[in-house]
Amino acid sequence: MTGLSIGICGGGVGGLCAGIALQRLGHSVSIFEQTARFGRVGADINLTPNAVHALDGLGVGEAARATAARPTHRISRMWDSGEETSRLPLSSAAEERYGAPQLTLHRADLLSILTEALGADTLAFGHRIAGVEPVADGATITFADGSSRTFDVVIGADGIHSVVRHALFGDDHPTFTGIVSHRGVFPRAAAGDLANLDAFTKWWGPTSDYQIVTFPLSHGQEIFVFSTTPRSDWTEEGWTIPGDLAALREAYKDFHPEARALLNALDEVTSSALHVREPLPTWSKGCITILGDAAHPMVPFMAQGACMAIEDAIVLARALDGAAKVDVPAALVAYEEARKARTAEIQRSSLANEWMKKQGNADWVYGYHAWTVDLQRTAA
Ligand SMILES: Cc1cc2nc3c(=O)[nH]c(=O)nc-3n(C[C@H](O)[C@H](O)[C@H](O)COP(=O)(O)OP(=O)(O)OC[C@H]3O[C@@H](n4cnc5c(N)ncnc54)[C@H](O)[C@@H]3O)c2cc1C
Repeated sequence: MTGLSIGICGGGVGGLCAGIALQRLGHSVSIFEQTARFGRVGADINLTPNAVHALDGLGVGEAARATAARPTHRISRMWDSGEETSRLPLSSAAEERYGAPQLTLHRADLLSILTEALGADTLAFGHRIAGVEPVADGATITFADGSSRTFDVVIGADGIHSVVRHALFGDDHPTFTGIVSHRGVFPRAAAGDLANLDAFTKWWGPTSDYQIVTFPLSHGQEIFVFSTTPRSDWTEEGWTIPGDLAALREAYKDFHPEARALLNALDEVTSSALHVREPLPTWSKGCITILGDAAHPMVPFMAQGACMAIEDAIVLARALDGAAKVDVPAALVAYEEARKARTAEIQRSSLANEWMKKQGNADWVYGYHAWTVDLQRTAA
């Protein structure tokens, strides 16, 4: 192997995509994931055309299509009247316009597709990272068991509570938004004759902290439901915390009957407090950088968290294409310069929670191509 040695902290969507892309460019990649194995934790991953296009370039788009559902439209409806305020055709229309469809799938299915695309022995489970520090010839990762490894480049893909971000930029705790999200899945048959189950539909509430989002999973055999409630007394995060379905239904009792029917079809939900961070002015120091939720966690109201992590991974790999050790700091600056404005805008716009409420243009989000976007790397 003649490329760089690269250590990736965190084997989530962003870390795995970065690993595949960097490996294909000839770098030697090791990914360290704290969990013992991937379970079927979490429900959905929503991949808009910008992310599916990026996955196509990684060679995993077909495998994702094989297990995913393809929402037919993106529809906005008003919480009380049920009025449709926007409708965007997806599926083949998105394929024509953006080069890829929108796909919705189980997070666990995406992780397993990405893991299979990695070279053997790339992903090490059960490795919890405790710290990262720059050293003369690269950067050293220290693990919770006290052992350490040094690489030419270290990438923090370790999510919203990133240890790598903390090591680079110190304490800046995520802020609780005062909103709790609730996720659940029901078998399609449980919805009776409800219309539009094959679309991505967002029911806009009376205020931006009430909404229901629904879309198909598993070729449409299951329907995913996301909703939110304002709550100031509960800040717990996690993907397996049982929620209070009766309280959720009560909070939505004044919604349109078709919206309430979605909550009524659920048997259970998991709940998680939503946190955000301000956009960072810089993401890299020397040979260390961050991507995905470690760099720019966002509320899921535009469904772009995983999509941004995937785009980051591709642009970062392109920045390191053909780089020698001496080029790494400049390559990492080029990567973050190419990505910061877009991800900050999507963080802000997600929090404002107005995007596509009315008929609008989705091109700036869906039409981004990570494989060709401008990237300016200055010579070392
Ligand atoms: C368990 C789980 C379930 C999720 N479920 C959903 C869902 O249902 N719907 C949805 O839209 N989004 C879900 N997400 C979030 C979504 O996957 C991410 O927001 C998005 O994909 C961004 O990806 P990322 O790779 O930047 O971060 P993440 O997907 O958060 O991945 C970060 C990875 O780093 C690992 N990690 C963290 N700290 C350390 C450490 N110190 N040492 C080693 N490894 C570490 C984590 O275990 C995780 O695998 C989930 C995330 C997780 C971790």
